[in-house]
Amino acid sequence: MERGISLRSISISTGISRATLHDWREHPVSTNPRAACPRCAPSPMLPEPQADYAYLLGLYLGDGCISLAGARDKRVWKLRIACADTWPGLRRECERAMIAVRPGNKVFTRQQVGCTEVISCSRHWPCLIPQHGPGKKHMRKIELQSWQHTIVTANAGQLARGLFHSDGYRGINRVRARLADGDHWYEYPRYLFTNESADILRLCGETLDRLGVAWRFSRRNSLSVARREAVARLDEFVGPKY
Ligand SMILES: [Zn+2]
Repeated sequence: MERGISLRSISISTGISRATLHDWREHPVSTNPRAACPRCAPSPMLPEPQADYAYLLGLYLGDGCISLAGARDKRVWKLRIACADTWPGLRRECERAMIAVRPGNKVFTRQQVGCTEVISCSRHWPCLIPQHGPGKKHMRKIELQSWQHTIVTANAGQLARGLFHSDGYRGINRVRARLADGDHWYEYPRYLFTNESADILRLCGETLDRLGVAWRFSRRNSLSVARREAVARLDEFVGPKY
């Protein structure tokens, strides 16, 4: 059909009825679940499970990249998320979320220095994550589409988990207090999220606001969650890396 051969000749040479060929031409979305995509379906739906989608989106915005998997005309895209080897639990969580969102596409890994890339190939990553584009994320505008807002509003905890699992950190901050009887050291847990993209930092801040987690900018490119009750609240969704 793509080569412009008439339905009649295709029907004669394949034995498939013209009515069926006509139907396939008018409704090209395959019914094969491997290929079905909630976004480019005739009536687009939200990707499911939404909690896994929100988590995966957070990972992508932190450490992910979408690029062509082969020749441009094949239109197959590769989603790659870099997972530090220090945290095997996070890598498994990443693999699980990728499979949950695209159950028909196999997930594989590739060892790099100090990290493992978790990879899934699909024609539909650009539909599912329309923030992909050429160049680095902080050099282009990162803006969620309205359907993504619907998901991340209802799943703010999972988006925060994805963001902090990729570009975030939960560590112990040590501060010194000089008192009359000498120096005292205090230790308290805090979260840091570091990203070069102002858009992604803003998205992280909005997500924390939605969760009722107090935060502030600690540097130009990072925000911190340090108040005791804010850390406790964020622990409900994120917690230490593992
Ligand atoms: Zn699609």
